[in-house]
Amino acid sequence: MELFDKVANILEVFKTNRSSNGLICAHCQSHDVIRYGTYNKKQRYKCKICKKTFTDFTNSPLNMCHFPNKWPEFVKCTIKGLSLRESARLLKVSYVTLFYWRHKLLIALKNIKNTEFIGLVEVADIFLPYSLKGQKGIDNRESRKCGRKYKYLLGEKVCVLTATDESKNIASRATLNLGFNKRCVNDAIGHLVTEKNTLLFSQKPAYSSFCRDKKISFYHSSNKGCNINSGRNYLNNFLNWMLRFKGIASKYTNNYLSWYKFNSKINFDDTFTGVIKLINAMSCEYISEINSSISKQKLQTA
Ligand SMILES: [Zn+2]
Repeated sequence: MELFDKVANILEVFKTNRSSNGLICAHCQSHDVIRYGTYNKKQRYKCKICKKTFTDFTNSPLNMCHFPNKWPEFVKCTIKGLSLRESARLLKVSYVTLFYWRHKLLIALKNIKNTEFIGLVEVADIFLPYSLKGQKGIDNRESRKCGRKYKYLLGEKVCVLTATDESKNIASRATLNLGFNKRCVNDAIGHLVTEKNTLLFSQKPAYSSFCRDKKISFYHSSNKGCNINSGRNYLNNFLNWMLRFKGIASKYTNNYLSWYKFNSKINFDDTFTGVIKLINAMSCEYISEINSSISKQKLQTA
């Protein structure tokens, strides 16, 4: 615990990071803001553009949080990949509170923008069974009877697509697969690739069609000397890491992908260095989700 005394005042970390490039409005990102008294002993500001007031924690995972100083230890539990029950025992905070903390943290990580890909981009995918875990009033639906040929292309599957480039830049995204098509590919990586890139993927019409639309050159992994090992390894490692959670609701897949991606980036470092990196990253993101909207979250249908 002593290790985290250094970031015990997480509120100060947020305050410093959020104003590092000049104070901006937490609602509309305008720079036209003024100090506007205090609220709950915290500095309050007012935006001259949208007229709303805010503090250093508005639209952050720490908004309305009763125990902000438990966050560094919570972040450590998160990097370690501890279950919410284990974390709740350690932190002496309720499971339900931590459920919302975790999702707010993951949403902040999901908001971190990807940089555009450089050079050759490998694209790999997996299809996972759709899961309604945790959803009240719905029993696991019987899986649809599909012909063997279409086992992974029809019915309720979640497609997880991962792209990696020469500089180890990674993007991954899950879409509800109701027919894997070029729109799924476009949603996942369309904003990250340009005509300067070349794509490498297994032979699927959705990818070729996406590339033709975007005028991007491509190779199939079936060509001699081409393989998509790094994307596949990444996805396999992700699946292995996910085993600890004993199944998650599909609607949260993208949150877990962002979590895994950040963890890989900091090499699963749960010491002070890793914890502060994660706190710094999340403090710079603005999220609008509150407890009620998190429980209603939906996985995007492509
Ligand atoms: Zn504003």
